[in-house]
Amino acid sequence: MQFPDFAGNQEIKQLLDHMFTEGRLPHAVILQGEDGLGKRMLAEIIASAAVCSAGEKAPCGKCPGCIKAAAGSHPDIHRAQGTGASRSFHVEEIRFIRSDVYKKPHEARYRVYLLFGAHTMSVQAQNALLKVLEEPPEYALFILTCPSASALLPTVRSRAQIFSLTPPSLEEAVQAALKKCPQVTPREMEEAALRWGCNVGKMISSFTEEDRAAATALAVSIAQAACAPQELPLLEMTAPMLRDRELVRQVMDYLLLVFRDACAIRAGSDALLAGSGDAEKAARMLAGSLTRERLVRLPQLVRETRERVDRNANTPLLVTEFCARLRTLTGK
Ligand SMILES: [Zn+2]
Repeated sequence: MQFPDFAGNQEIKQLLDHMFTEGRLPHAVILQGEDGLGKRMLAEIIASAAVCSAGEKAPCGKCPGCIKAAAGSHPDIHRAQGTGASRSFHVEEIRFIRSDVYKKPHEARYRVYLLFGAHTMSVQAQNALLKVLEEPPEYALFILTCPSASALLPTVRSRAQIFSLTPPSLEEAVQAALKKCPQVTPREMEEAALRWGCNVGKMISSFTEEDRAAATALAVSIAQAACAPQELPLLEMTAPMLRDRELVRQVMDYLLLVFRDACAIRAGSDALLAGSGDAEKAARMLAGSLTRERLVRLPQLVRETRERVDRNANTPLLVTEFCARLRTLTGK
């Protein structure tokens, strides 16, 4: 099995290659890791390999199986996902799969079910899936993606092999991201790699998504408002986050950098992650106005909030609590 353009994660690639070559792929695989690490990409590579006719060199990218897989039209690959909201991955979807999985593959060796964002499966849906995972037909291959497998029922987890994706090395990350963003200079990309912890997906989207700019601006405003005298601006400016989970993610990712910078400045370091300009001003303001004890709790608060987003906590509640705790920490 080969992994075109999939950076890093050498151990996972070796293991998958070995299992694939020996014909011993598990019936269920869970790919876990934060957004941007390539869970979906790896899931698609495994699915293509499973329907490719090139043997050990699968996916070859050229055979009819690979071409159909890439076009999303292979009859033996079924893709499903929720809307991203909590419990939005419905039991009806799994019921369909249960009736579908016992039909023999149309043309490939495997019948592949890609379940993206599996953490949004309702408990009912997970229990329905469990019934198939307990006695899957020989040719069935389930690939689930989620930020953390801990969001799934233990019974589901125990039926699957879990692979944890990690960021590649700096060099690999820069190389992989540059392929997708040829307009960016290697130096700029290296800075992005340092900023985003070599998370290739985040590096790419920091150059491509307009949303990213809006989220960054909002994060800076929140950092500024944290030191401002009234409560109102903070609540007002976080209002768009109440209904937008992805925005919360992006804001938290950037806010973490600003808060880390505030800690660094306080410690006398000039190695800033969030960049210069307003982000730096906000970080300096925080560093100058808070005790060291309180400062170090800011990144902690953001990390906790970020983890709760991934675990599908109620978004409005999460944002409201975040504002309240931020206020307490900044002592206003
Ligand atoms: Zn192929």
